[in-house]
Amino acid sequence: MLFFAIFLTIKNINVHMWITFSFKKTFSFKKHLPFLLFVCYNKNTMELKKREFMWSPWHGCHKISPGCKNCYVEFLDKQFGKDASIVKRNITNFNMPIRLDRNRQYSIPPESLVLTCFTSDFFIEEADDWRKDAFDIIKRRKDLNFLIPTKRLNRLLECVPSDWENGYDNVIIAASCENQILADKRIPMLLSLPIKHRKVFIAPILEEINIEEYLSSGLIEEVSVSGESYDNARVCDFNWVLSLREQCIRQNVAFSFHQTGSNFLKDGKTYSISHYKEYAQAKKAGLDFKPAKHF
Ligand code: SF4
Repeated sequence: MLFFAIFLTIKNINVHMWITFSFKKTFSFKKHLPFLLFVCYNKNTMELKKREFMWSPWHGCHKISPGCKNCYVEFLDKQFGKDASIVKRNITNFNMPIRLDRNRQYSIPPESLVLTCFTSDFFIEEADDWRKDAFDIIKRRKDLNFLIPTKRLNRLLECVPSDWENGYDNVIIAASCENQILADKRIPMLLSLPIKHRKVFIAPILEEINIEEYLSSGLIEEVSVSGESYDNARVCDFNWVLSLREQCIRQNVAFSFHQTGSNFLKDGKTYSISHYKEYAQAKKAGLDFKPAKHF
């Protein structure tokens, strides 16, 4: 039964579950068996997105923004008795993108998307001594795309390698913003910095946000929106999501609604949504939009 649970869990795990399992040092099978079985039970809504892999070269972060108030890394670390404010290099998985399988092939196949540093911030100060090694890995795997979300774009220029020039072809930088003030601060920075591929993460969305003037630049490849999760999550209003979607459609920019958040307001009613259904519920809304030319 236990092996069956593990098999189904791994088979159906998604990116957000990988975040949880990145805390595996303190993972106790006995303690988390109900959780694993829950995943198995929900397997239809927990499909592994093909060719997406989570890479956390370091773990831990500090709050620097209103969107950090209920940080999911802090919440998940607390469940395992860990302090999320301690930033540590990942000893066991630092080299994950260049790890070989038993056939001496890379275990992450070519053309995959590597979700990079989702349990920290790639440009956090504590990682200054480790980032060069991470960039070396990124340069070795030119056949992968590395998606790096950050709330610390102001540090990009001092953190990139000398051969960065206008950015690497295989690196997508996503500016993470949660309200109008930070969108007006971080998105112009995203546009002005030397970056080959740009995305905007409105996560967690905290109010109605207008970013249409930035979308009209033609430099943003996708806007992805999500609500806030876990304890004390602030409301995600469906109308705010729709507004961003309409802006994207008008400007022919890809749009993705990837997560409802735990408190979702629609038609005047607030819905409490289990974390493991947030992704499926967002997809059920059918709001994703891809223009003809999409990265
Ligand atoms: S930047 Fe992200 S990971 Fe860091 S504290 Fe804020 S929400 Fe958490």
